[in-house]
Amino acid sequence: MRKKIVAGNWKMNKDFQSAKALVNQLRTYVDTHSVHCEVYIAPPSLYTVSAVEEAKGSALGVYTQDVSEHESGAYTGEISVDMVKSVGAQGCIIGHSERRQYHGETDSHCNRKVKMALDKGLVPIYCNGETLEQRKAGQHLEVVKNQTEVALFTLSAEEIKKVVIAYEPVWAIGTGETATPAQAQEIHQHIRGLIASKYGQAVADEVSILYGGSVKPDNAKEIFSQPDIDGGLIGGAALKLEDFSKIIEAFDA
Ligand code: PEP
Repeated sequence: MRKKIVAGNWKMNKDFQSAKALVNQLRTYVDTHSVHCEVYIAPPSLYTVSAVEEAKGSALGVYTQDVSEHESGAYTGEISVDMVKSVGAQGCIIGHSERRQYHGETDSHCNRKVKMALDKGLVPIYCNGETLEQRKAGQHLEVVKNQTEVALFTLSAEEIKKVVIAYEPVWAIGTGETATPAQAQEIHQHIRGLIASKYGQAVADEVSILYGGSVKPDNAKEIFSQPDIDGGLIGGAALKLEDFSKIIEAFDA
């Protein structure tokens, strides 16, 4: 059975004290509630060490928001997979649309990052999704197909099973616009179908595919109830315990 996941991407928000306090609140929350999905957070990487420390012994997983495609060396400002692993984080987000938009990341970069993460035992959350122009032009299925194939289809069947995919239509990120559950389901089913054609249905059925884009407490349940949607990657609503916990509770028993 594939995992149900709610992951929070904190982006470039919060000072150290408030980040620490939120990790603590979330840790207490997952320790004291019966939670029916995996819960991950991706704080700014400067806080990863502290977040791992705060979350130690709990079910709260700590991820980074990005990782380098290079193993080590003269890459100023970057953090390597080995570094992420050595501080005890479990995985990393790869290919978020903001990395693509502001840092020129492509699916070829994502492919190398995903492979590096898997080789070293980190879980990659690989993000893809179309822009508004692409959707308006009716290209969304094709765009997501190309992204998925370039970024992931050099992996073996055993490797792709360990990848978490986050479908995040760019037009829905941080805009308050959400894909309708039917629009999201269409793409999730499409992605799972692509994986099934390449690796077989049994493999495709093991890959968790999250939806991201303005998920909030009041729409999470309907989105997560779609058959091919296995949870969410949450931006804005991950910054407050009250909202994030309600989204986690969209997965009830
Ligand atoms: C994101 O950044 O991955 C995201 C989905 O953001 P938001 O929930 O704020 O749209």
